[in-house]
Amino acid sequence: MTHYCSNCGQPIVNNTKFCPNCGAPVPPLAEPQPEPQQQYYNQQPQQSYQASPDPGEKPNNRLGQAIALAVIFCVPLGIPGIINAAKVDALWKEGKYEEARSASRKANMWSLIAMGAGILFIFFYIFLIVAEEL
Ligand SMILES: [Zn+2]
Repeated sequence: MTHYCSNCGQPIVNNTKFCPNCGAPVPPLAEPQPEPQQQYYNQQPQQSYQASPDPGEKPNNRLGQAIALAVIFCVPLGIPGIINAAKVDALWKEGKYEEARSASRKANMWSLIAMGAGILFIFFYIFLIVAEEL
């Protein structure tokens, strides 16, 4: 199918974006336009945190994180993280959303403490090895 340049009237091959005669940009051939999808974005209104009874997303229980850090780094310091992590799901199920979030934060905090202690321990260990070599 051929159409004609709106600027100079020369015939234009289908896939050309610019007229080969005058260089005017060629409007693309009419193609079936995809349905506008804007209504999908508007279907879920933003939820206000206080106004809605919906507790929102369950906080991460950090259990895997806590256990991994306890095993890798420093078992005694990892235990509070594991305890708090284990509480998150139970508290959440009982509807104690604020306490569940708090336990999640504590689990994360203890994980960070365990990680920090573990990293210090590793540095200290490396230092001992290096000191021995001297
Ligand atoms: Zn032209």
